[in-house]
Amino acid sequence: MAEKTTYDSNNIFAKILRGEIPSHSVYEDDAVVAFMDVMPQGPGHTLVVPKAPSRNLLDADPGTFGPLFAVVQKVAVAVKKAFGADGVTILQFNEPASGQTVYHLHVHVIPRFEGIPLKPHSGQMEKPEVLAENAGKIRTALAN
Ligand code: 5GP
Repeated sequence: MAEKTTYDSNNIFAKILRGEIPSHSVYEDDAVVAFMDVMPQGPGHTLVVPKAPSRNLLDADPGTFGPLFAVVQKVAVAVKKAFGADGVTILQFNEPASGQTVYHLHVHVIPRFEGIPLKPHSGQMEKPEVLAENAGKIRTALAN
């Protein structure tokens, strides 16, 4: 049977964008939001999400990418500073075969430290208080 490849407006990030479920937000503008990943692959793992609906990069309007990646860069610089990271990994998955699990376009921004591997993708839930504290650090770095 053919895989479903249309946008489902009940995906979890669409619900976060509509304010129907909470998130630890770090950034919002007219086109893009950023919030903490609840199952971080490392401290400070942030998701950057365009407001425009698309499943992933494959069906997105190309006009989405400029504003989206401008925020990816801002957040990458901020998380590097906020966590004293040595580098930043940017990840983006398209369809199940690639590892995508939430079907609204998003970009992962993950601070990296020399010699420390990433934790598994969609692994363990982080404590809300840790996510709140990390979001605060990123908001502070974005403001400075
Ligand atoms: P994907 O596999 O689609 O690229 O990544 C989806 C990401 O969303 C995963 O890293 C997962 O930990 C995260 N995630 C799943 N459910 C939620 C949620 O309810 N809230 C937040 N903030 N992140 C989520």
